Amino acid sequence: TNAGAGWVKSFEQGNAGMKAELGGKGANLAEMINAGLPVPPGFTITTEACRAYYACGAKLPDGLMEEVDAALRQLEAVQQKTFGDASKPLLVSVRSGSVTSMPGMMDTILNVGLNDETVRGVAALSGNSRFAYDCYRRLIQMFGNVVFGIEPIRFEKLLHELKSAEGAEQDRDVSGEGWERLVELYKELIVKTSGKPFPQSVSEQLKLAVEAVFRSWNNHRAKVYRKVNRIPDEQGTAVNIQAMVFGNKGDDCGTGVVFTRNPSTGEKALFGEYLTNAQGEDVVAGVRTPLPIATLEREMPGVYASLKQTAELLERHYRDMQDIEFTVEHGKLYLLQTRAGKRSAQAAMKINADLVEEGLLTREEAIARIEIGHLDQLLHPAIPADAVLDVVATGLPASPGAATGEAVFDADKAEEWARAGRRVILIRSETTPEDIHGVLAAEGVLTSRGGMTSHAAVVARGMGKPCVCGCEEARIDVEAREFRAGGAVIREGDAVSIDGSTGRVIRGEVPLRAGDMSDELRKLLDWADSIRTLRVAANADNPLDAAKAREFGAEGIGLCRTEHMFLAPDRLPAVREMILAETTAERELALMKLLPMQQGDFEGLFRAMDGLPVTIRLLDPPLHEFLPNAEELRQRVADLSAGIASGADASKERKAQLQDLETMLRKVRSLHEANPMLGQRGCRLGVLFPEIYDMQAEAVFRAALICLNEGVAVVPEVMIPLVGHVNELRFLRERIERMAERVLGDQASRCSYKVGTMIEVPRAALTAGQIAECADFFSFGTNDLTQMTYGCSRDDAEGKFLSHYVDHKLLPHNPFQTLDREGVGQLIEWALRQGKATRSDLKTGVCGEHGGDPQSIFFCHAAGLDYVSCSPYRIPLARIAAAQARI
Ligand code: ADP
Ligand code: MG
Ligand code: MG
Repeated sequence: TNAGAGWVKSFEQGNAGMKAELGGKGANLAEMINAGLPVPPGFTITTEACRAYYACGAKLPDGLMEEVDAALRQLEAVQQKTFGDASKPLLVSVRSGSVTSMPGMMDTILNVGLNDETVRGVAALSGNSRFAYDCYRRLIQMFGNVVFGIEPIRFEKLLHELKSAEGAEQDRDVSGEGWERLVELYKELIVKTSGKPFPQSVSEQLKLAVEAVFRSWNNHRAKVYRKVNRIPDEQGTAVNIQAMVFGNKGDDCGTGVVFTRNPSTGEKALFGEYLTNAQGEDVVAGVRTPLPIATLEREMPGVYASLKQTAELLERHYRDMQDIEFTVEHGKLYLLQTRAGKRSAQAAMKINADLVEEGLLTREEAIARIEIGHLDQLLHPAIPADAVLDVVATGLPASPGAATGEAVFDADKAEEWARAGRRVILIRSETTPEDIHGVLAAEGVLTSRGGMTSHAAVVARGMGKPCVCGCEEARIDVEAREFRAGGAVIREGDAVSIDGSTGRVIRGEVPLRAGDMSDELRKLLDWADSIRTLRVAANADNPLDAAKAREFGAEGIGLCRTEHMFLAPDRLPAVREMILAETTAERELALMKLLPMQQGDFEGLFRAMDGLPVTIRLLDPPLHEFLPNAEELRQRVADLSAGIASGADASKERKAQLQDLETMLRKVRSLHEANPMLGQRGCRLGVLFPEIYDMQAEAVFRAALICLNEGVAVVPEVMIPLVGHVNELRFLRERIERMAERVLGDQASRCSYKVGTMIEVPRAALTAGQIAECADFFSFGTNDLTQMTYGCSRDDAEGKFLSHYVDHKLLPHNPFQTLDREGVGQLIEWALRQGKATRSDLKTGVCGEHGGDPQSIFFCHAAGLDYVSCSPYRIPLARIAAAQARI
């Protein structure tokens, strides 16, 4: 029992439900101990203490170390050893442990409690002096790194020199005397670099270690990781203090990591790596390449069998794939950590589907568990099977997917180049978490050392970055900024490709193709469809996108932007003629040229969507978007008139050309607007130039008729953008209905079409009751609605002040990405109520970026909208999110 503030809890006092207080590692260690599994005893300093540490200005709160001491006394009693005692010393690990797992982002120190005295006690007690000094050199290195901030490479260098001197290939070949010497060298390095000696007082060690773990909550990589994964900065880390067990006591000892299923593919088979005669950080830190777990099965069959059994037990207990750290001491297995294993998107789908088939999860649970972010990665690019490849090396397939880009050799440069819009492959000799910002920026990662269970590989999988690691054939020279493999030299900036599914490293660029939907994904999507009520449509404006959308499960087209059709190079001249026309007659002539083209577009869409609704938005953007740039035009006019004036070229043709250009320039200038997004666009164009919308409506209905006659079921929905007043809609709706009558004639009964409007001007939302009198449907254009509700232009805001607002937490998120429920959401809810009061069968949906954003989709479901519309590639995501919204 603990007196005081209760900042310390023994493992026996915890359970898996206490992650917020004990961190994930502490909570799961407690859960395992209480389930009777072999876990070394210890206790946890709560996350509360970490928050208190920061609240008092990065100082350990009063009374904390007293509580730690009391808990340590109990641990000593259990272990029958004493911390700092020369003959029977207790050694502990001091381990970070955040609430949400952040593999390798924070620090841990092993073998705390060793000094020049106790190391001899350990040697005597174990009868193994080599082992004692191995532990000691590890402590000093970790301590030097974590507490004094000395780069690991400086220690590794001394180690490397020692190994060369002894002719030792692996760490385990180094002699006991070697380790003793290294301890002295390490101690010198610490004094030299930090001006302070490695502390001989064990309680000083413990205190500094605890502080360092608290501090590591705010190291660079941890911050980057939290930002990417949206983990709150306020959470803080717990600290676990645990009696050591030793995997480095001899050849019947070892340490490793196993996943209960393959985290890359999801296959149900024990997956892992280990090293004999080593301590845990050798495997997870990514500086050694470990052996595959199958080797353990051969070398220590008994241990392997109990590991396998424990893995199965833990998976059933947690009902999820587990990532387990273990250590074997003289043939006895100890568990040091378990957590839900990070997995690739592909593996996640397979595991979720399999757990349902195995009866461990219900369909709802499996869907609820899907990490929405994974869906973005599922259709990962892959290398086409028939591609001719210059494979220069093969490493471990650590994270699936293929990537191609320019080689870079450090994380900062990767970040810099990526910011400049270049695609890069980050190449490093080790797979370490230090490089997280570079991993984030890169298309993919290649390393020569480090296994598939190293933290950095785990993180790459979590982020969906293709990764090949432990590629020992590739000799990477970071200083020279090149690597050599299979006779090839690849230098910084050279094109290189990797295939994280097979481990292949390829010279040059490889054209990638979009990935396919796996069977498991289809299965999950089917289940999601049977759960959700919110429908999912696609934003698409050509038959190719429409077909893609259907393949992904779109239930129609929610937004076809007709302006995209106007921008095709073969149409632009006719579009310009239409805009430049001085009279209605001239304009109609130009429109007649566009009519068959538009009609063809719509036929294609109707055919692709056979039977599903197709919502066609009439022309929306300001007309000047279709005209050449005024400044360029002015320049061309100036050049041409100079040529004519000087007599260099004053032919008739030139003069006519000049006249045309001048007309164009005049028109462009006359169309200039101070605020084009608030100017003459959307239905305002349709009101001023009704012949434009007439032509579009005519194309819609002609296309419909042709398709109907082909036996294609057609459900056109004509959508008017930017309506602010019901009169705009009334005027345009009447014309569209007249056009329908004219084109469809006696076939009208066969084509049930709808006319509706975007709700994207706040006034339309506010007067939605009136607007619904003339609308069969509302589609909330949340991009414009957000823009106009906030009164800020998206194009200007995103690059400039919005990111500042979000970084400084003035806004919880970018409202153009995630719908602002409190503001814009209120307008939507209001409009929905008013609209439905006028017309109970009003169809309602959202188009725009928000239709593909999970949080916004949850809102759309809760608000009672009928559908969301998003880009084709986001449709699987939207289907899952819509189901999650209902669970
Ligand atoms: P991380 O969060 O970086 O994984 P951990 O606290 O899990 O850090 O520790 C790093 C490595 O040290 C792991 O492989 C773990 O198994 C090992 N380790 C931690 N505590 C002990 C211990 N008490 N005895 C033996 N090995 C340990
Ligand atoms: Mg760990
Ligand atoms: Mg709009």
